Amino acid sequence: MLADNIFLKILDKSIPAKVAYEDDRCLAFHDIRPQAPTHVLVIPRKVIRTLDDASPEDEALLGHLVLVAVKLAKELGLAKGYRLVVNCNEHGGQTVPHLHVHLLGGRDLGWPPG
Ligand code: AMP
Repeated sequence: MLADNIFLKILDKSIPAKVAYEDDRCLAFHDIRPQAPTHVLVIPRKVIRTLDDASPEDEALLGHLVLVAVKLAKELGLAKGYRLVVNCNEHGGQTVPHLHVHLLGGRDLGWPPG
């Protein structure tokens, strides 16, 4: 796999990350610039650049990413609540072209988002 973005480099371990969870389908690690006291990213091992690139065969994988984030929310003590975010493309604020689920918690996050 040609590691053409930072998350692929984290997946192939050519750059380090603070790993929170991993299995055969995904890797979860702490965001380097946390936007909340808890900010973890859950990414698929499969190369999917954006939500727009996901296909019906990815349905179970997308569900897995969400359920891993929920499991981590419980493990990381986010009993008062949390938010899952998937930014998509330019207007969605996506900066890294590898699909990722943000798990944010540990403070009142407010609504609407920016
Ligand atoms: P997005 O803007 O939705 O594409 O989110 C990308 C996220 O990746 C941002 O919250 C960044 O702070 C985070 N990020 C970028 N580089 C790294 C890295 N090397 N390790 C951990 N998180 C990173």
